[in-house]
Amino acid sequence: METTGVTGGVCVAAADAAGLSDGGLRGRLRVIGQAESALAAMKAAVLGEIARREDAERAERAARDVLGAPRRDAKRDVELGVQLRTLDVVRRALDEGAMPLAHARLIARAAAEGPIDEEMLADAARIQSYEQFARTVRRHQADVSIDDGKSLLDHQREQRSGRVFTSSDNGMVVLGAEFDPITGAQLASAISAKERELWRSEDPAARRSPQQRTADAIAELILELDGKRPSGTALLIVADYDVVQGELKRARLGDGTPIPIDELIKRACDADILPAVFRAAADEMRLGRRRRTASDAQRVALAFRDQGCVGCGKSPNYCEAHHIIPWKVGGRTDLNNLVLVCNGCHHHIHDDGWIIHRNRSTGRYELRPPGS
Ligand SMILES: [Zn+2]
Repeated sequence: METTGVTGGVCVAAADAAGLSDGGLRGRLRVIGQAESALAAMKAAVLGEIARREDAERAERAARDVLGAPRRDAKRDVELGVQLRTLDVVRRALDEGAMPLAHARLIARAAAEGPIDEEMLADAARIQSYEQFARTVRRHQADVSIDDGKSLLDHQREQRSGRVFTSSDNGMVVLGAEFDPITGAQLASAISAKERELWRSEDPAARRSPQQRTADAIAELILELDGKRPSGTALLIVADYDVVQGELKRARLGDGTPIPIDELIKRACDADILPAVFRAAADEMRLGRRRRTASDAQRVALAFRDQGCVGCGKSPNYCEAHHIIPWKVGGRTDLNNLVLVCNGCHHHIHDDGWIIHRNRSTGRYELRPPGS
């Protein structure tokens, strides 16, 4: 396959994958990634130009007719094409294959939502993983916002959308919805609490897959009208307290997503919200041998301290509290003997001998492969 970008070009020569070395396969993947970016830049330029000459709707129509793209993809591609017309640095990086398409989409979306520093984001996009970069973009949006992120949150609330339909692919019913980060965090927290409840009631010899468990949790939450809330559904919001000014600053969700301070204050009145200033009694954090599983308060404190899985950074909603010194050999259910880990990283610890390590300079917990 040979591709030519709008200005630059990336060439991928045909090769027999089975004949490549391990390093060769990775090298090949790298070149394919560059070619995909260059091709995406070309597609964006063409669709952006059709949208300019005619309108966005006609450009979408063209993407669907000519490329056979599903409606959703066509709309997304045209939006990218329109946004990239004003984002020179991103367009060039994409065209040169120096920025993955997914990163470019994040910048384009942020630019549609408010002012951004394009060059700064483009530099970060070249070196960060998608997940890291998504965080960088969210923090940057909060940093440059002139109204503490209120207009961004309003915009996101307006953009909420949901749909229920029967898939033409396989006849299954699909629920899909997008929410602003605050509503979303509450939903994610309720769903993962339900997942933990289901997990505890499962036969360990016949566990469902995580995807099946999520589907069951959503179905139970929607269909079960008993009004019982599974424990651990509290929304975690944290903020810094500026002692000099005597005010709360930098409010954010448990995973670090910035939110306006007003939202924190509004929600701190809500009975189910554990508010920012975290003053749980010290003995609440040290349950010793009295119970094996972490309490809700400990989970909140862990979410605040670890920010997510200490191995891979997955959101606290998808993590379990893990005993550093195992419960079986006398380990205590104390905050300093617990870390948050996701399911996958938990397996690394139990099956592959990965070790929890506390980084002396940052004070943060980390997960390392054995022998490192
Ligand atoms: Zn993990």
